[in-house]
Amino acid sequence: MNTRDCDTEQGTAADLPCETQSFDDFDLHRDVERAIKEIGFETPTPVQAQTYDTIMDGRDVIVMAQTGTGKTAAFGIPIVQRLDPKDKGIAALALTPTRELALQVSKELSAIGKYRDIRCATVYGGASFTKQVAEVKQGARIVVGTPGRVLDHIRSRSISFAQVGLLVLDEADEMLSMGFEKEISEIIESLPKERQNLLFSATIPDDIRRLTQRYLDDAAIISVSGDAVAAKEISHFVYLVSGQGRQRDMVRILEAERPDSAIIFCNTRDETQLLARHLKSAGFNADWLNSDLSQHDREIIMARTRKEEIKYLVATDVAARGIDVSHLSHVINYSFPDSLEIYIHRTGRTGRMGRQGTAISLITPQDIGNLYYLRLTYKIYPIEKTLVDDAAEARNTEIDQLIALRQGFGAKLQQGFGPLARRVIQDVYAERIVAGLLGAYFDQQMGAALATAPQQAEEKPAPTQAKPKTAAPPRKDRSARPKAQKTDKKRPKTDPSKEKPEKKSNAPDTLDTDTPLEEIFIDAGRKDGLRISHLMQEIVQITGLPRTSIGKVRMLTRSTFITVPEDHFSTVLKAIGKIEVEGRPLKAEPSQKS
Ligand code: AMP
Repeated sequence: MNTRDCDTEQGTAADLPCETQSFDDFDLHRDVERAIKEIGFETPTPVQAQTYDTIMDGRDVIVMAQTGTGKTAAFGIPIVQRLDPKDKGIAALALTPTRELALQVSKELSAIGKYRDIRCATVYGGASFTKQVAEVKQGARIVVGTPGRVLDHIRSRSISFAQVGLLVLDEADEMLSMGFEKEISEIIESLPKERQNLLFSATIPDDIRRLTQRYLDDAAIISVSGDAVAAKEISHFVYLVSGQGRQRDMVRILEAERPDSAIIFCNTRDETQLLARHLKSAGFNADWLNSDLSQHDREIIMARTRKEEIKYLVATDVAARGIDVSHLSHVINYSFPDSLEIYIHRTGRTGRMGRQGTAISLITPQDIGNLYYLRLTYKIYPIEKTLVDDAAEARNTEIDQLIALRQGFGAKLQQGFGPLARRVIQDVYAERIVAGLLGAYFDQQMGAALATAPQQAEEKPAPTQAKPKTAAPPRKDRSARPKAQKTDKKRPKTDPSKEKPEKKSNAPDTLDTDTPLEEIFIDAGRKDGLRISHLMQEIVQITGLPRTSIGKVRMLTRSTFITVPEDHFSTVLKAIGKIEVEGRPLKAEPSQKS
């Protein structure tokens, strides 16, 4: 293993002389060519282009490539091309870490060998021994299997591997990390000495180096994407978090990123359940997968994930092993893996075959060291993002509200209202009715908060209060205001108008869902001393509009968004400009969304 065709540590894939751009350069047998066309492969992937000649030359190779790069066909095409269909016996053995991968590999090799009549048998634990033997006896030339079951067949002499001239160790690092080192060694020892070895591994940890030094001969080392083994299509991001309130941070990240689908990795089984439960209660379509589940339940979850019925699958590494989640757009490390190899494996499960994938990791102060090594070792430089993301925080308000509703009302049905609730849900105006009820409910909540606000304001007067900069209509007793506002919500059509008669005529009492809404952006938020209650009081006082005609207020740390009906847009915009917070006038402008 000293000679390197394509050096991984010093060179890059681009430097390699062995790059081929078209399947025509492979000079394939027409039956192989036909099969490849039928499968739909048009051009070789980099790993296929870079390994083909070396494998055809009969050399041992160590290929640093992950699942998703086209590595199965990288060994499948030359194997089928080199085997003579007229010969008999098992000529090639491929070992894979899991049953699922064995089946996947076998399926692909069978498809490549379809017209050349090179058949493939699959052997793995938990399935009928005799059926596997029968499959081999039907003329299989390639056996794909998991180490344990292959060894069982060797020991019981039920399958003869005496003619094997080519051995593939697929996902070798996974096999070793699953504890198959002894089985693999015993299998290799039992095979003919004259054979070619192809080792595919996403990472080359020490145990893989030991294995290659022991069993491979003068192997060429080929790396698909130069120094970085991770697929280029994956964008890596990290969110620096404190580690406190990680579940909440996860929700905020999902809210900010809005992944189409994701596998969310946790380091422990407990974490998967807790996180999935939290995500569900925040309204996400999520479920969990860990080895506490029975095989049957795991299969159900996997099938639901494949069918895209589960959007966010929260899983441990062990449970997620071998399952094809390549359709998922995001891989998220809820807990950062203890080893970089695991990081490569996890993130390699997205961004398959030219598709864009995104890897996101939550990084706590304890993970900084590993992040540093990720940069150093694998040349992966994740882009840092922060959670003080206004948009995420804004959307988070809704999640918080939903959680509050679930906590408040989710436990049992309000007596006497079940039948009405069912009618409302089915009503054509269901959305409007529910939105109205929610508005009333949350306004009432805010009213309650307002009722306590004046006392606080009196304790800490100036700095936290918003004050009108210019002469505003005389203020009413602040402590009386919340009650008046509460009444406004209940009788919106009359009370507000009594307060401000001249504005009343064109001011809608409630937010009419048919009136187009616009959003105002204010350049100040909670940290600037602004409070929703005071802001609303000032706007109501300056404009004379009823509180209910102003829509949702989302206050963030440094900014605030207010939804208003189009008709009141400029009135409210001007009013905000007259409000001062901590001696500074507020700046308001149309939000970019409106
Ligand atoms: P693998 O890395 O072997 O798991 O391959 C990932 C996916 O890529 C599989 O669905 C293959 O069928 C597909 N694939 C392999 N080679 C090619 C190719 N040359 N062109 C298009 N798709 C390919």
